[in-house]
Amino acid sequence: MSRLIILSNRVSLPQSQKCVAGGLAVAMQDALSQVGGVWVGWNGEQVKQEADQHFDILYKSKITYMTCSLTEKQYQDYYCGFANNTLWPAMHDRVDLVEYDADEYTTYQQVNRLFAQKICEFAQPDDLIWVQDYHFLSVARYCREMGMQNKIGFFLHIPFASLELWQKMPSGKSLIHDLCQYDLLGLQTTQDQKTCLQVCSKLLKAQKIQRDLLSLNQKVVAIRHYPIGIDVTGIQQSLADLNHQDVSPDVGAQARMKTIIGVDRIDYSKGLFERFNALADFLEKNPEVHEQVQHVQIASPSRLDVATYQRLFERFKFKMDLINHEFQRNEWSPIVCNYDSKPHLELMKFYRQADICWISSLKDGMNLVAKEYVAAQDAENPGVLILSKFAGAAEQLTDALVVDPTDRIAMIKALKQALNMPLAERKYRYQQMMKQLQAYDINDWRDHFLTDLACTQYVHRFECENTKSAVSFYPSHAFQHIHMQLENRL
Ligand code: UDP
Repeated sequence: MSRLIILSNRVSLPQSQKCVAGGLAVAMQDALSQVGGVWVGWNGEQVKQEADQHFDILYKSKITYMTCSLTEKQYQDYYCGFANNTLWPAMHDRVDLVEYDADEYTTYQQVNRLFAQKICEFAQPDDLIWVQDYHFLSVARYCREMGMQNKIGFFLHIPFASLELWQKMPSGKSLIHDLCQYDLLGLQTTQDQKTCLQVCSKLLKAQKIQRDLLSLNQKVVAIRHYPIGIDVTGIQQSLADLNHQDVSPDVGAQARMKTIIGVDRIDYSKGLFERFNALADFLEKNPEVHEQVQHVQIASPSRLDVATYQRLFERFKFKMDLINHEFQRNEWSPIVCNYDSKPHLELMKFYRQADICWISSLKDGMNLVAKEYVAAQDAENPGVLILSKFAGAAEQLTDALVVDPTDRIAMIKALKQALNMPLAERKYRYQQMMKQLQAYDINDWRDHFLTDLACTQYVHRFECENTKSAVSFYPSHAFQHIHMQLENRL
């Protein structure tokens, strides 16, 4: 009986008290809790040496969790180093922050091999393997070297770097070669898909056999886009289940104050300074809004073992203090910041209570916060989404107030428009955005990817062997419609 095996760097373990702030963990939890399967990855712990490293297995609610710790060296070189100090800035167009260290690259490869080895040990030939994100560009290569012929798909949750960057990066070509050992590459946006196709075909001289299929040494790889969705119904249901008072804004002194929410990891890709500068300019030029508007910032400190992020955190706090110091009056300060990670439900309440959500990413794979904010709104009195045009979500949420975060005048204009938007317009924009979110939610995202993974492989094999065997995958009830889609396509 075939299973779904997911590999991601972090696994959100059921007994863990830690709140995982990150789009990927939330999406994986949603996907696996519906269909069941095996979730492999790092348990978040570090050990001194490889001899202390072993996989723990836990079974809960249809999910088998298989996690292991990283050695201190692996954590430094693979996670802090190559993944977050080389690949992350490269993928987010921050060439100035890209650092490359050959030792770190070697450890990155070693960790990719470690997880490939584990999967190889327990995977059955008909298991479907779905690898997540930039931590594991090379896993399929090792799986293939170990003789695995399973269908292996890869989804990149962040943007895809330009051809120029891959050409410049030492080992860039080798990484792209490894990437093409997957059967299906999924990207967040049409733009990322286009870039990925261009990079793979140019760097490897792969032959384009169809619009989104490349052939390389008799191996075919499909490159498509699957914009990640959210659990719209789940969010609406969880808010509906709450006591009305829990999600209604406070009455009293705060009642007339409009709130703008920002929910971001403290990351240079989120455009936090662009937003704070626009807010400061707005407050300076519009003293009548003082004590009438407040920016609530939920800011999870992130990757603090990486020097760039430590410096960023310090700059962030300094900037916020500066603005608060300049404009503070009576009991009011323009920015209220919360550094704790909120449980998902609590975050939904914050969204519901905020009049505006302001997203200013300079480059962002999707930005789930944008989608969650819309889904959490009261249909009768929805808030307004200001959305950076550089977030992947802007491809679908075109009825948000879409802005260029580097254009301060445009940002202030959007903020004013949001603060003064009439109810009818807020409702119209909300309804349009909800249509988009409902048309392609987290389940559609998962189903489309997995259907394509099975189907793509089938098409390749059909061409080679003229066999229909690939249809017999996936037993779960939740996936019955995938079988049907497969049958229809074939
Ligand atoms: N999140 C959360 N608690 C927090 C802050 C964030 O659960 O205190 C979740 C949020 O609901 C969203 C994810 O973390 O699902 C952030 O995803 P996004 O794509 O916006 O940004 P990322 O951090 O992945 O770059």
